[in-house]
Amino acid sequence: MHRLTPYQTGLWLAEYLNVRCQLCRIYRSTAQSQLLMQYSHANSNDASSENSKFSPSSNQSLFAHICHQINHRSSRGLLCTYCHNSIVWLPQPFDVDIVAGRSLFIQVSTYYEYPMRQAIRAFKHHEDMTKLPSLLHALRQLPRPHGCHHNNSVIVAMPTTNQRLVKRGFDPVSILSSQLSKHWQIPLWQGVERIDDTVS
Ligand SMILES: [Zn+2]
Repeated sequence: MHRLTPYQTGLWLAEYLNVRCQLCRIYRSTAQSQLLMQYSHANSNDASSENSKFSPSSNQSLFAHICHQINHRSSRGLLCTYCHNSIVWLPQPFDVDIVAGRSLFIQVSTYYEYPMRQAIRAFKHHEDMTKLPSLLHALRQLPRPHGCHHNNSVIVAMPTTNQRLVKRGFDPVSILSSQLSKHWQIPLWQGVERIDDTVS
C-alpha cells in the first residue's frame, strides 16, 4: 500500500474515525449510503441505482470494485443528516453554449452559496484542508453521468497554469478531481495542457 499524503490521511481520519459532522462538528455524521436511502425514499429518482450498474470486466477492476464497496460500507460519513438536509443538492441541470450550435450539459452538485461557497474559497485560496471533507461530500452527491463507466470514459480536469501553481503552492482542482475519479470509478486523463493564462 502506498503512503498517504497528509491531506489523504486527514480525509481518511474524517471518513473512518471521526464520528462528528465535518460542518457543524456537533452531531454524528451519517454514512452516505444511509443518506442515499433517505433520498430514494423521498424521491423515486434513485441516484444510487447508477452505482449498481457497475459491471467489472477484469480481475483488476473486480478487485478495485470490491475495495470500493468495502470502503463505501465502512465509511462513517462526513456530514450529519441535519447539515446534509439543510443544503440543496443537485439543482436543475442547465446548458451552456460552448461553440455555435453546440452546448454542454451541466449538472452541479449544489448552489455556490453558504456553506459550500465559504468551503470552496477557504480550500482554493488559503489551502484550508479542513474544508476538504465537506467538498468531498458535495462531490459524492453527483451521480455518475448516465452511460459512462471506466471502459468508455475519462475525467478531464481543468488544468492549472504554472504561474497559478507557484502562487497557490498546490492545485485544488487535481485534488478534487482525483476524489471524483474514485467516486465515479472513472479514470482521470491528464493529456491536455492549458495554453491561456487568464486572470480568472
Ligand atoms: Zn452537521
